[in-house]
Amino acid sequence: MLLLVGIAVSALVFSHGHAQTQPSQAAHRFQPIAPGVYSAIATGTLNVGSNSCVVVNQDDVLIVDSHISPESARVLIRELKSITDKPVRFLVNTHFHFDHANGNQVFTAPVDIIGHEFTRRKLLGDVLAKGTIFAESLAALPNQIEQLKQRAAAEQDAAAKARLDQQVRVQQAYADQVKEVKPTPPSVTLNDHMTLFRGDREIRLIHLGRAHTAGDVVVFLPKERVVCTGDMLVAGISNLSDGYVNEWPDTVEKLRALDFTDVIPGHGEPWKGKEKLDHWQAYLRDIWQQASKLHDQKVPAAEAAKRIDMTAHKNHYPTITAPGVAPIGVVRMYDVMERRAEQN
Ligand SMILES: [Zn+2]
Repeated sequence: MLLLVGIAVSALVFSHGHAQTQPSQAAHRFQPIAPGVYSAIATGTLNVGSNSCVVVNQDDVLIVDSHISPESARVLIRELKSITDKPVRFLVNTHFHFDHANGNQVFTAPVDIIGHEFTRRKLLGDVLAKGTIFAESLAALPNQIEQLKQRAAAEQDAAAKARLDQQVRVQQAYADQVKEVKPTPPSVTLNDHMTLFRGDREIRLIHLGRAHTAGDVVVFLPKERVVCTGDMLVAGISNLSDGYVNEWPDTVEKLRALDFTDVIPGHGEPWKGKEKLDHWQAYLRDIWQQASKLHDQKVPAAEAAKRIDMTAHKNHYPTITAPGVAPIGVVRMYDVMERRAEQN
């Protein structure tokens, strides 16, 4: 599944060259984006699931997304002390997915957890139930660990083997850490937008429309010209399994209208500029068009997933090596086409 692949790949990439020499290395590096604004990126020593954005204000701190487990959220708060002593006052959930919101329970009063009404509804509901993105990822975990072990055992290169061994340890620890998750909804909700003024910092929380989920919120800092997008935009291909692929390009168009230079995506390295928005819109329009055509021809979703060919986009998304896409995204697009998506 794409999310898990993303986690594995980022662990691999970010552990490169450091993990062997510094086994007790911090779980995050805080990459400065603007004065007081950081992207907290995983180093690979802990499964944190997704990026967080950290906004250090005059008297307090706002964090965007709480990571994949209570433990990874606690480690984030602890490591935050390397950049500031100020207390965390706000947590924003960009959306309800487990890799962004499973750390919520660690953020207790006086911290306000802010998210879209839809995110609250989802996190009050049965996000742990069978068939949800979280349950599916947990079900896939033992097999994923087994595959990592096999790859580690077969690896000849010592450095590569050490990285794989680390991923095994990290994912085994995660399997344990995830047991204490109690889905915790936002305590403050928005439907459209909300602005926080903290000292001279202006922080806009905006729901631009449906995209990765029905309740995506982006965090926009107009003075610093930084946007934290959650998984509306990621460094590679975002997971489509709760998405509105047909509406997503229009929502990205509204994002484009914001005056930003720096993007902190839900996964992967931050970047500058708006070019990646074009690439992602083109990908979404193409996959929706191909899926619609196959749906019209009454081709079942599993078969359509094999036939959809996104190789035209491989220059922008190097993980595309052959025709075929993840079936879960096609199932979702069919649900949207047949108007079943509103129920879940
Ligand atoms: Zn997500």
